[in-house]
Amino acid sequence: MSKKDNIVIIGAGLCGSLLALRLAQRGYKVAMYESRPDLRVTDISAGRSINLALSDRGFKALRLCGVEEKAREICIPMYGRLMHDREGNTFASNYSGREGEYINSISRGDLNGILLTEAEKHENVTIHFNTECTSVDIENTVAHFKDYNTKEEFSVDGDVIFGTDGAGSALRKSYYLERKFLFSYSQNFLAHGYKELEIPADKLGNHQISKDHLHIWPRGEYMLIALPNLDGSFTVTLFLSYDEGEYNFNNLTTEEKITEFFEKEFSDALDLIPSIKDEFLNNPIGALGTVKCSPWHYQNKTLLMGDAAHAIVPFYGQGMNASFEDVTVFDTILDTHEGGWEATFKAYEKARKEDTDAIADLAIDNFYEMRDHVANPLFKQKRKLEMDLEKTFPTEYFSKYSMVTFNEEIPYAEAMKKGRAQDKALLNMVAHHDLDTITDLKEALKKVQEETNEILEEDKIAGL
Ligand code: FAD
Repeated sequence: MSKKDNIVIIGAGLCGSLLALRLAQRGYKVAMYESRPDLRVTDISAGRSINLALSDRGFKALRLCGVEEKAREICIPMYGRLMHDREGNTFASNYSGREGEYINSISRGDLNGILLTEAEKHENVTIHFNTECTSVDIENTVAHFKDYNTKEEFSVDGDVIFGTDGAGSALRKSYYLERKFLFSYSQNFLAHGYKELEIPADKLGNHQISKDHLHIWPRGEYMLIALPNLDGSFTVTLFLSYDEGEYNFNNLTTEEKITEFFEKEFSDALDLIPSIKDEFLNNPIGALGTVKCSPWHYQNKTLLMGDAAHAIVPFYGQGMNASFEDVTVFDTILDTHEGGWEATFKAYEKARKEDTDAIADLAIDNFYEMRDHVANPLFKQKRKLEMDLEKTFPTEYFSKYSMVTFNEEIPYAEAMKKGRAQDKALLNMVAHHDLDTITDLKEALKKVQEETNEILEEDKIAGL
């Protein structure tokens, strides 16, 4: 492996631009190709998660690349969920019982813009926009492109090609089309899609509802969420089945039906979205899927990263964070591995795959938790006990959510195993004891820890 290696990166999204920045900092020559126009100078239309929740794993990677502070400047802290019931009543649930643990709403476009600008500051980086990769000849490490400006087709030869081209990756497609090796691949879609809407700022440019929370309207079959933007608006996302249930994307086709649906299910939100009918009828519906595949690399030539390797559903707010964490993990492997690209790629996947599989599964779990359980009385009691434990024993008790979101040193797979066992233990406790009777928190912590360990031990035996 030589520092003079020419690296081709396909896809200048969140993962690709951070990877380009890091590899440039390490001295590699990087050429990055992006199918869309430069989002810093073109208003790329909405419809694809305008804002995202950024948390500690993401920050760790940004810190590694020296861009954490720039990202923090455009963040809005969200300290907890604010649930809205059908009658318009709200109740809050903090993300953590510890001080200083919160997630952050950030604009996808602005964050991506920062990363592109930082990458471009390095003279060993070139970025080509409006250039779509059509396929990759993985044997010869040649990527084929179409330039949308000139309409010309051309090919680029790299020493190594990285595919950070998202859930519909062209590199991944070439893996299974070229049939050079045994490539395992699965893509599972939810029966729900999503559509983005907007709560505008008030006349003074202020947020109309609390900007300190991620808002959720949980309704079983349907769910609405809203994250704040710096300009006083909120990006609202409706998750809805394509064709099941009383209301679905297929039957919400008239203004009357859309209004009826929102009046019945989300009346307080309806009051805040003045352009609901236009937006609902014109904004696209996005699909929600999980991609798992292996191997991520081909010999010493190509590697998938970010959503291209492991797209997940958005319900843990971790897809971008996990894609950024890919860069952190890859960087560590580069530090310690001297064995050439193939050995590096192998070691990287070995270190990473179990964790990206785990966050994919946790994200599916959270879909059901956010949709069905957050308003459930037993769930609320469990959450309350958990918050009390975190507050009282900040160095001893970490909820599953905290381990995933705020403990970047705990790998996702470990957070999943321990978090699931802990959840079972907590639910057992609140199911059998009235919360008011749990007055001795020290005793409660001891019991939860003991039962968690028992469950983990049973799981270990069951897995033998
Ligand atoms: P992408 O961001 O998809 O970037 C891929 C890039 O490659 C794009 O710029 C694309 O234009 C380009 N490209 C694609 N094909 C080609 C090609 N053939 N040639 C050249 N370029 C190409 N994650 C969080 O952490 N927190 C959240 O709150 C969160 N919310 C989400 C909400 C929704 C509704 C969705 C859908 C996702 C959410 N995510 C969230 C996940 C997050 O968006 C992704 O995990 C993240 O964008 C992955 O980054 P990436 O760079 O791998 O892929």
